[in-house]
Amino acid sequence: DPTTAQALHERLAKQGVHTLLAQFTDLLGVARGKYVPLAQLDTLLRSGAGFSGTSIVGTGLPRSGARSEYYGRGDAATAQALSWMPGYARVVCDGHVDGQPFEGCPRQILRRQVDRLAARGWTLQVGMEPEFFLLRQGAAGQWQPIDALDRSDKPSYDLKALARQGGFLDELHQALASAGLEVLQIDHEDAHGQFELNFSHADVLTTADRLMLFKMAAHTLAERHGASFSMMPKPFANQPGSGLHFHVSLWKGDENLFADAHADLSELAQSFIAGVLGRSAALCALAAPTVNSYKRLVVGESLSGTSWAPAYVAHGFNNRTALVRTLRGRFEWRLPDAAANPYLAAAGLIAAGLDGVDRHLDPGPARPDDLFDWPLQRIRAEGIAVLPQSLGAAVDALERDSVLAHALGAAAHAEFVRLKWAEWTAYARHVSAWEFERYATVF
Ligand code: GLU
Ligand code: MG
Ligand code: MG
Repeated sequence: DPTTAQALHERLAKQGVHTLLAQFTDLLGVARGKYVPLAQLDTLLRSGAGFSGTSIVGTGLPRSGARSEYYGRGDAATAQALSWMPGYARVVCDGHVDGQPFEGCPRQILRRQVDRLAARGWTLQVGMEPEFFLLRQGAAGQWQPIDALDRSDKPSYDLKALARQGGFLDELHQALASAGLEVLQIDHEDAHGQFELNFSHADVLTTADRLMLFKMAAHTLAERHGASFSMMPKPFANQPGSGLHFHVSLWKGDENLFADAHADLSELAQSFIAGVLGRSAALCALAAPTVNSYKRLVVGESLSGTSWAPAYVAHGFNNRTALVRTLRGRFEWRLPDAAANPYLAAAGLIAAGLDGVDRHLDPGPARPDDLFDWPLQRIRAEGIAVLPQSLGAAVDALERDSVLAHALGAAAHAEFVRLKWAEWTAYARHVSAWEFERYATVF
């Protein structure tokens, strides 16, 4: 719409913006884009900025012909000046190929699921809680937490360590606030050098866009403070990993469809949760998408009870030891880790939840107990499933899951599975020092 473009151009120019950061997210969840002069705003909104399709990981696009060009078409509603990059405004782009929405663009994949909800008059509100590490490299190149001054093994909520990173955290806070994110809380998490920053929930697409903005700002600002920002799920074997919990509620106008006058959650919420729990193995490939993710989700971590990462497919009221922690009128999905592509994880969540709703699935009994206290035999005896313990197992489940295949679209599903099998086999072929220590001369 030319009037929108004109008005947006004027607003951005008045804010001192001269360049647009046309940004999209690739299939693996990494922010990509290019700089486009503000004078080209109209073209960015109408046809998009052009990229070589094959050069973008996960598109599966050919090297030549009409389908070789990937256009990132700007979504005017997302334009936002970036205080930490004066003169620049981010515009989130939707992938287009040959004049059509590109079915394999993660934002389009999420849009399709959002549209399925909208067809029923529903909106999904999601808050995503990023946990992350600040790292640095030692003299020999080894990665270490930015700060391990405190030798205590419980740095949770440590105010001294929080204050030491105050310069970075405050800049990040201000940067996000000026880009329209309402920051709610910032804390020191359970590991050395680990933090969490929460911002207000919104409709799921807006939240995914905001999470990508958060990551972009955090990478840039951390570098300026001589640190590396890390969303690696489990950097240190003996320290907790980084989750990206989703807080989820479903709305029809002003009415929270997950709320119930007589119970913590409505029947609709129960079957949504049942759908999500039942598809956990395949959802792992989307929500915990790296080799390293499974070091966070490993059963032994839960048994030790210190990492707070889920391993068991269960739900319980305010139960942080379960995969789904239910609350009044919403639930927390604790599966996703910091490396998840937020668009794909959210699309998978909706597809699985809607399937549960349509099939009136039952999530099974709520588990009020500390599941980290239960030995694995008890978990098994109670009929509780255990999450896949490797990327290979999760990808295998995703490959065979028709609901999620349909949600991703056949091409993106095949491409994602292909890339993740390659990632898994590259790792599986690697023989580590641990194996030599354990097996070299034993047998
Ligand atoms: N770091 C934990 C995880 O990996 C979560 C800790 C928390 O509940 O905040 O999921
Ligand atoms: Mg946390
Ligand atoms: Mg949480």
